[in-house]
Amino acid sequence: MEPTLFSKIIDREILADIVYEDDEVLAFNDIDPKAPTHILIIPKKPIATLNDIEEGDLALIGRLQYTAAKLAKELGFAEEGYRVVMNCNEAGGQSVYHIHMHLLGGRRMQWPPG
Ligand code: 5GP
Repeated sequence: MEPTLFSKIIDREILADIVYEDDEVLAFNDIDPKAPTHILIIPKKPIATLNDIEEGDLALIGRLQYTAAKLAKELGFAEEGYRVVMNCNEAGGQSVYHIHMHLLGGRRMQWPPG
């Protein structure tokens, strides 16, 4: 898989406003926020789309969700509520082909999403 924009952020070739990092996961503020808090949570392992997740990745995917909830608690909007979104492929609105979880908080969300 070609290095994506997010691999370059992991490798510090492209700067991002990093809010959390561990051995497996990186989280940084979205450059074009759609809510007062809009964080992207990504695995360091490059996986192109949700369709490419393998059974061996299940703990890693759980870690993305766990990190989202941890950040929501730390940032103070966990109880009020928030949204996590993962877009898949073109019709799903995916633009960077390295899976990522959007954590959106700090405002009331609409349903259905656009
Ligand atoms: P997708 O559309 O693939 O679900 O989400 C990709 C996200 O990456 C978008 O919300 C977009 O604003 C964000 N993004 C694109 N380029 C950059 C960048 O260079 N830095 C950061 N921090 N976010 C980016």
